[in-house]
Amino acid sequence: EYKDMSKERMMEIRRQYCNPMTMKVTYYKKPVYIHQGHMQWLWDVDGRRYLDLFAGVATVSVGHCHPKVTEAAEKQLRKLWHTTNIYVYSPLHEYTEKLAATLPDPLKVIYLTNSGSEANDLAMLMARLHTGNFDVITLSEYETGLTSIWLFSSQTMCPDVFAGPWGGSNCRDSPVQTIRDCSCPQGSCTANDKYIGQLNEVFATSVASRIAAFFAEPIMGVGGAVQYPKNFLKDTYKLVRERGGVCIADEVQTGFGRTGSHFWGFQGHDVIPDMVTMAKGIANGFPMGAVVTTPEIAASFAKGVHFNTFGGNPVACAIASSVLDTMEEDGTQQISHDVGTYLLTELAKMRDKYEIIGDVRGKGLQIGVEMVKDKASRKPLPPAAMSEIFEDTKDMGVLIGKGGVYGQTFRIKPPMCITRDDADFFLAVFNQALHNYMEDHH
Ligand code: PMP
Repeated sequence: EYKDMSKERMMEIRRQYCNPMTMKVTYYKKPVYIHQGHMQWLWDVDGRRYLDLFAGVATVSVGHCHPKVTEAAEKQLRKLWHTTNIYVYSPLHEYTEKLAATLPDPLKVIYLTNSGSEANDLAMLMARLHTGNFDVITLSEYETGLTSIWLFSSQTMCPDVFAGPWGGSNCRDSPVQTIRDCSCPQGSCTANDKYIGQLNEVFATSVASRIAAFFAEPIMGVGGAVQYPKNFLKDTYKLVRERGGVCIADEVQTGFGRTGSHFWGFQGHDVIPDMVTMAKGIANGFPMGAVVTTPEIAASFAKGVHFNTFGGNPVACAIASSVLDTMEEDGTQQISHDVGTYLLTELAKMRDKYEIIGDVRGKGLQIGVEMVKDKASRKPLPPAAMSEIFEDTKDMGVLIGKGGVYGQTFRIKPPMCITRDDADFFLAVFNQALHNYMEDHH
C-alpha cells in the first residue's frame, strides 16, 4: 500500500529543492495536499473529498483516472512506450486519423508535441517560415505558454496575464505587439469597433508591418474567460490575412468540446483558422500537445526540419485516442453544454444578488466570475478579498481557479463529467462563501 509523505516533509523538500515558484503557487494559504483522483473528485492525504471544478486548469477532460482511459494507458504501457517516430507504429496512426476527423477541411495535417507551449512555438515557427514574415500579434490577456527561446517563443507573447494571479510576468521587453482588452477590469464588452481600432493601430506600427501570425484563444482562459465582441475574430482574421499573415486558434483550453456548442472553440466564431494548437484536455492530463494545419502550410514547413523525441509517443497516442472515444461514449460535449448553461444561468442570478459579482461569462464549462469592489466602480476585488472567498470555498469542499489580469476572476472549468447535482453543490458552497464574506465586511 502506497503511503504519502507527511505534509511537513513535503513542504520542507519543496522549500529546499523545488523551483521557488512552487512555493508561490501552492494556490491556497492552507495548501491542498492531494492523494488521489477519480472523475470529478479529488481526495487529500487526510481523506477529505473535493469537487474539482478547475481540472488542473481545464486539463482533466473526461475525469480524473477515468477507468477507460486508465485501461488504455495500462495496456499500452505493457506493450511499447517509446521508439521515436522514425519507426512506424499503430497508436500514432490510429490517433492522427481520429483527430483529423474532428477538424474541418483544410485542417488535416498534424504535428504532435508534448505541451501547449511547444505547440504554440511550433505554430509560430511554421507561420514565420510559411509567410516569410516575423511579427506576431496577440491580445494582452492571452497566455501562450512558458518556453523561452528569445524572439522565437511563446513566452514573448503574454505581456500581462501573469501579473495578477501569479504575481509576476516573464514578458518584459516583449517584441510582440498586443491589442488591449478594452474592458479593464474586464467585464462584458461589445465594442467590436474599439477592438478593431486598436488592431489597426497595431498594424500601423513598425512592429506589425510584416505580420506572420495572429494568435488568439476562442475564449481567453488564464485571462479570465474573456469573450470577444461578436465578429471580432472573423473581422480580425480577414485583416490579418489581407496583410499576408496566418491566423492561429489556440484551443489548449477551449478545445475538445469544452465550450459545449462545438467541439472546437473557433467553430463558435464562424471562422476556420490556418492553424490550431491544442494540449491540456487532449490526453486527459497526460503530457501531449498538437498543431494541426493545412497541407499548404505543411508543405512550406517541409522545407525545414522538424523532429520531436517524445512527440507522438505510443503511450500518449493510446491515451489521447481513448480520450476521443470516451468523449463520444460519455457525451462530454453535451454535458459541457447542459451543465455549463445551467451554471451560467444560476451564476447570473447570483450576480444580480451580490454587489461584488461584476460579471458572469463564458460558454459551456469554460466559465469566469469576475469580482468587483462594487458594481458602480467596477474596480477589481482586491487579492485579499478574493483569497478569503477562494479559501472558504475550498474549505467547504470545492476547488475553483483564479485568473484575470488582477487575479479578480474566479474560473470554473471542471472535468466534463460533472452533473447538475455537482453544480448545485458548488452553487450552494459559493453562495455561502460570498454570504460569509459580505457578513464579515459589509
Ligand atoms: N495556451 C493556453 C491557452 C494555455 O492556457 C496554456 C497553459 N495554461 C498554454 C498554451 C501552455 O500550455 P503548456 O502549459 O502545456 O505548455
